[in-house]
Amino acid sequence: MADHQLPAPPDLSRTNDRPVYVIGGGPGGLSAAAALRKRGVRAVVLEKSDAVGASWRGHYDRLHLHTTRRLSALPGLAVPRQFGRWVARDDVVRYLEKYAEFHELEIVTGVEVSRIEPAGADWLLYATGGRQLTGRAVVVATGYNHTPRLPDWPGRDTFRGDLRHARDYRNPAPYEGKDVLVVGVGNTGAEIAVDLAEGGAARVRLAVRTAPHIVRRSTAGWPAQRTGILVRRLPVWLVDKAGEVMRRLSVPDLAEHGMPRPDTGLYSRVKDGAIPVQDVGLIDAVRSGGVEPVAALESFDDGKAVLADGTLLSPDAIIAATGYRRALEPLVGHLGVLDERGRPLARGARAHPKAPGLHFTGFTNPISGMLREMALDARRIAKALDAGR
Ligand SMILES: Cc1cc2nc3c(=O)[nH]c(=O)nc-3n(C[C@H](O)[C@H](O)[C@H](O)COP(=O)(O)OP(=O)(O)OC[C@H]3O[C@@H](n4cnc5c(N)ncnc54)[C@H](O)[C@@H]3O)c2cc1C
Repeated sequence: MADHQLPAPPDLSRTNDRPVYVIGGGPGGLSAAAALRKRGVRAVVLEKSDAVGASWRGHYDRLHLHTTRRLSALPGLAVPRQFGRWVARDDVVRYLEKYAEFHELEIVTGVEVSRIEPAGADWLLYATGGRQLTGRAVVVATGYNHTPRLPDWPGRDTFRGDLRHARDYRNPAPYEGKDVLVVGVGNTGAEIAVDLAEGGAARVRLAVRTAPHIVRRSTAGWPAQRTGILVRRLPVWLVDKAGEVMRRLSVPDLAEHGMPRPDTGLYSRVKDGAIPVQDVGLIDAVRSGGVEPVAALESFDDGKAVLADGTLLSPDAIIAATGYRRALEPLVGHLGVLDERGRPLARGARAHPKAPGLHFTGFTNPISGMLREMALDARRIAKALDAGR
């Protein structure tokens, strides 16, 4: 079927009584629901906010996908060509809305699932308003970036300026003429720092705990994501070596500008959960002094930010790009399906032996792109649940 044609309505009559519940109406949940529906399995998406794509609606204005349009499409619907190669935040939201409509997904908004319990061969979901819903299977797609992680730095309460998590950052306007410290140099921290520097902040410092791997988003038209896909199954040491060669060839040494060189290999870091920083202006901003790398933020002393090297700073504002927690414990922590870091032990098509029919999607951060991974997982999960009918 061509991607622009409407799919034939599947026969959902066999599973109407006990649907598969999909928790979360982001790209992970929507793609799983579409793949199930395509196989004739009734799937009901439960979304706690009032619309699909809630996470994307809340991201900062400047954000574009750093994975390509083609390699970010979900099953059964291409991302429109006019959205360009690097799709803007608002267009990601439009695509997700269109996706739900195109696949005629059954979505219930305003319903938050708080706990999942086994009920014989089925699953019982406890949700908003005292709801108890029984499904034959469950797909958990509540997001890798679920709950903002704001470190409890000692003395934090003494800081009198504006301290917020990156999730609450929209654009540089409120920071015009201000001295801002951005904490954390993942993709989000790096891009927010550049946004502030270009958007009129008086001074932007970027607190770096672990020196990042910085890669070009694309080189001579070849996107970094494609390299990520190609090297995915190669030995870690080999990719680390190749990454080091690439770094020397394509990324200038920023050590003299205060940005240290990474001391562990690129792929070793990915395996530990840290994907490389795609350059969307950081290199130039660091070289020009628009963004000044400084040591990690350790604590606060009498309202001043104390860095790991002992420097004291008094910024007007601090933006903590310090990541997120999965926050799966209340939902499934009691089922023995999470590891010590709160991540699902089994993911995608594979369910944990203790919890057959309970699937997780979107809980890895692969070098090949998370949207691409969720698209692949959606099909695999649908196949597994279809076979289990
Ligand atoms: C800033 C940023 C940029 C990114 N850029 C890219 C990129 O370029 N390419 C790429 O491949 N990936 C990217 N990602 C990673 C990933 O693709 C996105 O985070 C994506 O939105 C994840 O989809 P998801 O469905 O797993 O989670 P989410 O999009 O977070 O969706 C989860 C949904 O579940 C709902 N929910 C949560 N808990 C419950 C509950 N208990 N009950 C009911 N509903 C619930 C939430 O409201 C939300 O709508 C990016 C991530 C971030 C944070």
